[in-house]
Amino acid sequence: MRLTDAEYAGLVGEIVAAVDADHAEMVALSRDIHAHPEIMFEERYAAAALTAALAERGFEVQRAAGGLETAFVSLSGPNAGPTIAFIAEYDALPGIGHACGHNLIATSALAAGFALNRVIDRLPGQIAVIGTPAEEGGGGKVKMRDAGVFAGIDAVMMTHMAMETVTRPVFLAVASIEIAYHGKASHAAAAPEAGINALDAIIQFFNGMNALRQHVRADARMHGIILNGGQAANIVPEYASAMFIVRARDTVYVRELARKARACAEAAALATGARLEFTTAEPLEHVASNGVMADLYREKLRGLGWSSTEIQQDGPASTDMGALSHAVPAIHPLLQIADFPVAWHTPEFREAAWSDRGQEGMRVAAKAMALTALDLLVKPGLLDAVKAEFAQLPR
Ligand SMILES: [Zn+2]
Repeated sequence: MRLTDAEYAGLVGEIVAAVDADHAEMVALSRDIHAHPEIMFEERYAAAALTAALAERGFEVQRAAGGLETAFVSLSGPNAGPTIAFIAEYDALPGIGHACGHNLIATSALAAGFALNRVIDRLPGQIAVIGTPAEEGGGGKVKMRDAGVFAGIDAVMMTHMAMETVTRPVFLAVASIEIAYHGKASHAAAAPEAGINALDAIIQFFNGMNALRQHVRADARMHGIILNGGQAANIVPEYASAMFIVRARDTVYVRELARKARACAEAAALATGARLEFTTAEPLEHVASNGVMADLYREKLRGLGWSSTEIQQDGPASTDMGALSHAVPAIHPLLQIADFPVAWHTPEFREAAWSDRGQEGMRVAAKAMALTALDLLVKPGLLDAVKAEFAQLPR
């Protein structure tokens, strides 16, 4: 699509003004969701409020998308062309509530969708706001991806509120490992030679992992807990179990770490004679930020008067957006609404997710995402460049 400079500037002005016009409504909605925290797959209040607002604006809303009760897909746009999606998360944490600011992720996605919706009849293509439940454990996006929800989507984006503004943040690939050993009970003093100590096997496994620590990449994270270490000190433990998590910057290396963990677990089984049960699921992938989209987002932020860094120095977590970023070109930038040493998943960040500063962050995120999507729809060749980069991702 060829727009004159004046036509393009007109669209930008309308989109920015639309986010401002909707801001009071978005603040009220984000605080309403904040006041009704719901954990994974129970986000019924939030999903109902968000889909009602989308339907009211004329979006075609599909509830229970991908067979998940609290997921949704909403679409708008009469014209043929690509579909750009804004991702809404809205789950809270058990006990502590909206301490990851997902209420603001939800309303920034909505605000971006609403702004583009006002001009969508003049754009080639469609916009989508997609509600993805259960980011905090549960992997809602993985289930939705596997159900084919993102099949017709050309690019996805969301903004996560944070302690710094980063356009290509590091989110680690992660694999969970469950380990159990079956030994043989016996009197620990009267007949120890007749027992097989399952707890010893767990301890050997932890020692093996701790020896491994010296020989893994600096970005690797390995952490675990013992779930069951026996019943009584005078009984040789016949059963013991542990949970372990390994993470790294890329999924390929996480698979290697999981293989090494398995070797440590097998060695402990061999040494003690206990029988090993080793269970690990497919790793959750790292976030592969699309560079073309991230650069665009950074340029929009700068235009809105916000500075950003490209890659964060530390504090990496993991997210199910990683899985999605390997299925569809994606960005998952961070936008600052609090200062270090405030951290995610704390009461302080929960306050930030309600605060006026948090609401301003939501407004800026909405504008940056809406303008990024506008460019992807109207600037010739841009979406092709996004897709070409995506095609080069190592699988
Ligand atoms: Zn989060």
